[in-house]
Amino acid sequence: MQTFVIIGAGECGVRAALALRETSFAGRIRLFGEERHAPYERPPLSKTFPPEHKPITPPETFSDAGIELMLGARAVAFDPTEKLVRFDDANVVRYDRLLLAIGARARTPPGFESALTLRTLDDASRIANAIVPGARLGIVGGGVLGMELAATARGLGAEVTVYEAGAVLMGRAVPEPIAALLEARHIEAGVKIVKNADVTGASVQEIRTGDGAVQTFDMVVCAIGAVPITDLAEAAGLDVGNGIVVDAHFRTSVRNVFAAGDCCVFPWRGAMVRLESWRAAQNQGTQAARAMLGDLRPYDSVPWFWSDQYELGLQVAGLCRTNLPYTRRPTGASGVLLFQYDEHGALISVSGVGEGNSVARDVKLGERLIEHDIRIDPAQLADPAISLKSFLRR
Ligand SMILES: Cc1cc2nc3c(=O)[nH]c(=O)nc-3n(C[C@H](O)[C@H](O)[C@H](O)COP(=O)(O)OP(=O)(O)OC[C@H]3O[C@@H](n4cnc5c(N)ncnc54)[C@H](O)[C@@H]3O)c2cc1C
Repeated sequence: MQTFVIIGAGECGVRAALALRETSFAGRIRLFGEERHAPYERPPLSKTFPPEHKPITPPETFSDAGIELMLGARAVAFDPTEKLVRFDDANVVRYDRLLLAIGARARTPPGFESALTLRTLDDASRIANAIVPGARLGIVGGGVLGMELAATARGLGAEVTVYEAGAVLMGRAVPEPIAALLEARHIEAGVKIVKNADVTGASVQEIRTGDGAVQTFDMVVCAIGAVPITDLAEAAGLDVGNGIVVDAHFRTSVRNVFAAGDCCVFPWRGAMVRLESWRAAQNQGTQAARAMLGDLRPYDSVPWFWSDQYELGLQVAGLCRTNLPYTRRPTGASGVLLFQYDEHGALISVSGVGEGNSVARDVKLGERLIEHDIRIDPAQLADPAISLKSFLRR
């Protein structure tokens, strides 16, 4: 009987395990996760306090599907020649195919090592305990995660200050007009935002800036990005760049070893891309499972993520390039919807923000336009009298 081993029991690893069974793989599926909690969803961790332990799938699913789930098991090395994985408790496991779904960890460069970060349920619980009305929270990093945390903490009455190194918030992921709208909402809510901040270090209660000043808070959280976990792969001799390098089928440079989710960098429309996105982790887990079984259809899912801040819902499909202009399309009373073309006239991103789910339908349609590479005159795209759906029928 064949044994497929999956390391990492997060979104991607769990989806891969389930997909293996759904595609009627009859061998052993062994899923190992370092965390002790039953596999849970990460997105709620920054959006609701106290944090919700939302299972990715009901716990009984694993035993029902004959998936051997081992929690609190950290893989420390694997040997692609012997096809063995070694764990921190000295357990050694044999595999026929191996999937690395080990995700990313919060970035903590020198000077930030002792700061709190938000990646796991335990991190969120610790942060949430300190968020009481009037508590002073310092957040380093005005990216999507930092701003979600700001909104959640402010909603509970904390005094929040965000330090962002750039001139705009969420600059890597979101078009400037949308970032500006969200920033205005944060300011209206009473969040203090320090842009172009020269933060040189942070600890649990302090933020140090380049001018030598030290600001003290009841709690400081660092949200300055995540880095893919690659050490296992590197030690085993796999190609590693900004993530574990895989091909369009999530095969690594070493036979019988696959990688997917936040830990991998994969080819997408001519570029090597690494995503930190819930839906991509799911889709890639499913696709990697198929590839482990020899079903080699290429991966072409359009990147997509969402964020909730206050009553506003943000969605982005495709990959924004901040150096390119946007075509604005009117949407709802409070919303903004922006499309972006590349130099060759191909649609590359659609971004929307509005109350609740109000932009979801338009972003979904935009995603399908990107998926099918449908060329549209920007003037027509900007015209609300022409329905987005009609472009799909052309
Ligand atoms: C607070 C927060 C909020 C988010 N909100 C959103 C959102 O609103 N929208 C969105 O699209 N995305 C969001 N994301 C991103 C999304 O959750 C991730 O992209 C997704 O969880 C990635 O799944 P993954 O399985 O690749 O990695 P992970 O979820 O990180 O899972 C990897 C697992 O592998 C384990 N592991 C690592 N090394 C080992 C080892 N050596 N041995 C055993 N186990 C190991 C880790 O402990 C972890 O449990 C959010 C992320 C966070 C942290």
